[in-house]
Amino acid sequence: MTSAIIVGAGVAGPATAMALQRVGISAEIFEGHARSDGEVGSYVTVAPNGLDALDAIGGLALARRIGFPSRRSVLMSARGRTLATLSLGRPLPDGTVGLTMKRTRLALALCAEAERRGIEVQYGRRLADASPRPDGSVQAVFEDGTTATADLLVGADGVHSVTRHIIDRQAPRGRYVGLTNFGGVTSAGLVEVEAAPEEWRFLFGRHAFFGYHLTGQRDVIWFVNAPRQQITPMERRGTSTHQWQEWLAGLFVHDRGPAAELITVGALELVADNTYDLPRVPVWRRGPMVVVGDAAHAPSPSSGQGASMSLEDAVVLAGSLRRAPSVAAGLAAYEARRRTRVERIVRYGARSSSTKTSGPMAAVVRDALLPLLLRAFGTDRSTRWMTGHRVDRGDVAAPTHR
Ligand SMILES: Cc1cc2nc3c(=O)[nH]c(=O)nc-3n(C[C@H](O)[C@H](O)[C@H](O)COP(=O)(O)OP(=O)(O)OC[C@H]3O[C@@H](n4cnc5c(N)ncnc54)[C@H](O)[C@@H]3O)c2cc1C
Repeated sequence: MTSAIIVGAGVAGPATAMALQRVGISAEIFEGHARSDGEVGSYVTVAPNGLDALDAIGGLALARRIGFPSRRSVLMSARGRTLATLSLGRPLPDGTVGLTMKRTRLALALCAEAERRGIEVQYGRRLADASPRPDGSVQAVFEDGTTATADLLVGADGVHSVTRHIIDRQAPRGRYVGLTNFGGVTSAGLVEVEAAPEEWRFLFGRHAFFGYHLTGQRDVIWFVNAPRQQITPMERRGTSTHQWQEWLAGLFVHDRGPAAELITVGALELVADNTYDLPRVPVWRRGPMVVVGDAAHAPSPSSGQGASMSLEDAVVLAGSLRRAPSVAAGLAAYEARRRTRVERIVRYGARSSSTKTSGPMAAVVRDALLPLLLRAFGTDRSTRWMTGHRVDRGDVAAPTHR
C-alpha cells in the first residue's frame, strides 16, 4: 500500500489524509503545534464549492455541526448606504449554503474525523527537513530529531510552509497585502444590529474594513481589516488587548453602523494578525514531495476561498494519484488540474483586498463605482466559476475506509 506523510493539521492536512485513504493510500499527519481546544482565532466561511469537496470525502455533516449558514453579503458604505448585495454562491443540491465556523474548530473537527477513520495525527511534530531517497521514498526529519519515511510527503503547512522551501530553496515567501486582521465576538443583545441571519454585513469604513455576522445564538462575530504597516512581534508584545480595542473602535467612530460599539463591548479573539498571500509559487513538487492548500497558493482572506481551495486540492490530489501509474505522474497531474484555477482565485483575492486599502479619495470613487461594477461583475453568474465549481466525485468514489 502506498503511504503518505502529511505535514500540518489545519484544513488541507486532515482533508487530504481522508481523501487519500479513500483511494487506498495510508496517511499519517504530523502537526507542529500541540493539540488545542479550538477556541482561538478567526472565523472562515466555507463556500459551496468547498462544502461540495468536503461532501465528496464524507465530511459535510461535521461542517454542518460546527457552522452556521451564510447565504449572502451586504456591502455598506461609511455613510450607511447599501452598495450591493451578493450571493455567496449557488447552494448544494440539498440546499446547503455557505457555512461559517471558527477555523480552528474546522481543523479540529477534521482531525477528529480523520482519527475516527483510523488516521493517526501526531501533535508537537514540526517538520524541519525532508529528502527523497534513492528507492523513490521520502524521509522527513522533525525538529525533535525524529524521522519518518513514506512513499509521498504532502506539505499542508500553510502560508509560511517549510515544505515549500524544502521543495524549492528559491520559493517565494508570503507577501504582506497591507492589511492587519483582528476578530472578535459580542454577546447577543449587547448591541442592536441591523443584519438578518445568514448574512455577512461588510462596511467600507473611512479608515478600515469591518465585517459582522449573527451566529445561530444571535451573538455577533466580527472582524476588522485595518490598512497599515505590518505589526511587529515587539508591538504585539507591548500592546494590550484593551489598547487594540480602543484603537480599532476609534477607526470607526465617524462611520455609520455598529462597528465601534461592537468592538468596544466585545471580546477580541484574533489579535494583531498580518495578512499574507502568495501570488505565484513556481514549483509545487519535487520527486515524491508536493504542497497543497495555503502552502501552494494562499489567497488573501478577502477572497473567502482559502479553506475551500484546500478542500478541493485534497480531492483532486487523491484522484490524480489514483489514476496515475506512479507517484510522480500523479503529482504532475494534480498540478496540471489545479494551477490555473487557484491562481485565478488568488488574483481575485488580491483585487478584493485592494478595495479595502484605498485612501479617502479613492474611497469616494470606490463607493460610486462599486455598485456599478458589482452589478456587472459581482453577480452569481460572474462568480459561478469560483463558488459554483464542483469536484469530480469519481476522484474519491468507493471509500476504502472502515
Ligand atoms: C483572518 C482570516 C480569515 C479567513 N477567512 C476565510 C474565509 O472566510 N473563507 C475561506 O475559505 N478561507 C479563509 N481564510 C483562509 C483559510 O483560513 C486558509 O486558506 C486555510 O486555513 C488554509 O488551510 P491550510 O491547511 O492550507 O493551512 P493552515 O490552516 O494554515 O494550516 C497549516 C497547519 O500546518 C501547521 N504547520 C506549519 N508548519 C509546520 C511544520 N513545519 N511542521 C508541522 N506542522 C506545521 C500549522 O500549525 C497549521 O496547523 C482566512 C484566513 C485568515 C487568516
